[in-house]
Amino acid sequence: MICTLINKDGLENYCERHKRQHNGHYASYAIDPGEKGERFRKLWDQQTDGTLPMPSTVVRIKNYIASLAEHVANGGKLVPLDVRQDRAAICEQCEYRNIKSNSCSLCGCQLNEENVLGGKLAWAVSECPAGKWSKHDDTAPKQYSDSSRHLLFHIWPRKTHAGTWQRNLDQLKIRWPLFTGKRVIAVATSGDSHPFEAVQEYMHGYECEWIQVDNKPELREVATFAQLFGSVENLPGYTFYGQAKGVTKPVNPGVSIHAWTTTMYEILLDYWPLVEEALKTHCTAGIFKKAVDGAFSGSRSTWHYSGSFCWFKNAELWRRDWRAIEQVWFGIESYPSMIFSREEAACLFYESTKQFDLYRLHNWQRVEAELKQWRKDHQQYRTGIIK
Ligand code: SF4
Repeated sequence: MICTLINKDGLENYCERHKRQHNGHYASYAIDPGEKGERFRKLWDQQTDGTLPMPSTVVRIKNYIASLAEHVANGGKLVPLDVRQDRAAICEQCEYRNIKSNSCSLCGCQLNEENVLGGKLAWAVSECPAGKWSKHDDTAPKQYSDSSRHLLFHIWPRKTHAGTWQRNLDQLKIRWPLFTGKRVIAVATSGDSHPFEAVQEYMHGYECEWIQVDNKPELREVATFAQLFGSVENLPGYTFYGQAKGVTKPVNPGVSIHAWTTTMYEILLDYWPLVEEALKTHCTAGIFKKAVDGAFSGSRSTWHYSGSFCWFKNAELWRRDWRAIEQVWFGIESYPSMIFSREEAACLFYESTKQFDLYRLHNWQRVEAELKQWRKDHQQYRTGIIK
């Protein structure tokens, strides 16, 4: 009997019988009444009910010992989180996966994505016996594509108001898999900040590139701009720029900056399909866009994203004079408007043609009321685990 393929929860060619999608050419085998179709359906039946033939226990132990020896000889190197997830996604769709025991029927290895300490998906030396994914060599240059998402982030790990810089990094950590391209964190240190190493330690296990500079109060984030953006120059894809906000303010209900910051992380990082759609027709996308002249004294800026967080379409940035930033303390906030016109800048939430100050609590309360409705209206774009 052939499979019945349906559209389920946005998944095309979902097969009720095998509880999975039959992708690409497998979809045609699923409905092929001939011998080839029968062969595949039998295999998928075995995958689902756990009767897929597995290597003997002796072979499995032998395979495991050989892999473990190679892993140890490689210094116990593990792959970054995104590589582990990519491998898991390939295995998930693979015809050799024993779904019931979540193991590979060719080598007998477990395919537990959560197992970071050991196991096939986590070890750098592992490779797929069917050649579907390979050993991870982090000395080989990483390839980027038009869909790569890069992260550029500035942080001043100020000691005062304990926990404020860490709050920002926590926001990134939970969305780390979103950044499939380069991840670069620039740390500006000063006498009243925690050391560079404290930030590195806090991000232990989250692979990224690092930049360290002395904090320059007269330039703020502009001090790390050239190095950060230079690190992704001419790479394809999209770039998110953010900074640790609110490190000079206490955390209490009378202070709006922390809720404002959390909202920027939420809208710009949890609704990627919405951002991507906006970047099809615009060069940059952000929230709290103020289309106002004279917001910054002495600047030619005619609009900006309040709070400075935004996404850029890389190709548009590199074909213009992307280094044209104003060398002043507000330079990072006015920067997108130095490169792109108002019309080229998408606003995903709360656009205004008037000046409004989000540091004022009553203004923020108005925003929060709109935010509740916005979340309802954009539910369909919200991503859980971002692939
Ligand atoms: S390791 Fe390779 S053959 Fe085994 S389940 Fe994963 S993709 Fe399939």
